[in-house]
Amino acid sequence: MTRLADVTSPQLEALRERRPVALWPLGAVEPHGPHAPLGTDTLISVGTCERAAARLADPPAVVLPPLPFGVTRYGAAFAGAVGISEQILRGLVLDVAVSVADQGFRRLVIVNNHFEPEQVATLRAAAAEADALYLDLLRGRNARRLPDEFRRGSCHAGRYETSLVLADAPGLVDREAMTALPALEVDMPAAIAAGRTDFVAMGMDRAYCGAPAEASPEEGRATFETLADMLVELVREEV
Ligand SMILES: [Zn+2]
Repeated sequence: MTRLADVTSPQLEALRERRPVALWPLGAVEPHGPHAPLGTDTLISVGTCERAAARLADPPAVVLPPLPFGVTRYGAAFAGAVGISEQILRGLVLDVAVSVADQGFRRLVIVNNHFEPEQVATLRAAAAEADALYLDLLRGRNARRLPDEFRRGSCHAGRYETSLVLADAPGLVDREAMTALPALEVDMPAAIAAGRTDFVAMGMDRAYCGAPAEASPEEGRATFETLADMLVELVREEV
């Protein structure tokens, strides 16, 4: 598995003769309950890209340094929401797509795990504009393969996301806080459609929903395999 930031220039020169794809993990810095790290979404994208890159050989894949910032406003009432605008996000995608193409990469593949609607809409449009691929986890055929909590849309820092953090960075989860949290069912897509655009208005007064106390590293590892499967399939089908 190759990370772009870790190789030397001659090493990349040898690798790019095979025209690798560039996998780009994107996320956000935003509150994820009282128990999970602010960088949860980025961590999930990195874990997905690295697992997929380990499996892709023809074409090979290189993992770009993650973009830790996203469009994040819903969590602004809590400590830790540090974001960028839609315009900057779009510009970054367009610039990086041009740059990796100039550098001999076959295709840019964007992997995002921050699902605020403005983030997703910006990435879908920018990927189309840049002729990059976008792993769209909210699309039915992808979402259907993910755990129940994700499909219900009650999944901010809940069982789904917390399990993924426990799989790759268990030291970043405050387990005492996690196990004390009651399950909180919030239909985020419905709340957003009804015009509620911050966590508090959605009833998430501790910046989480779902069931974080049920999270486990075993579920996280299994979910990571599913996420990597979908990314590998996207590359094999579309590149
Ligand atoms: Zn998240």
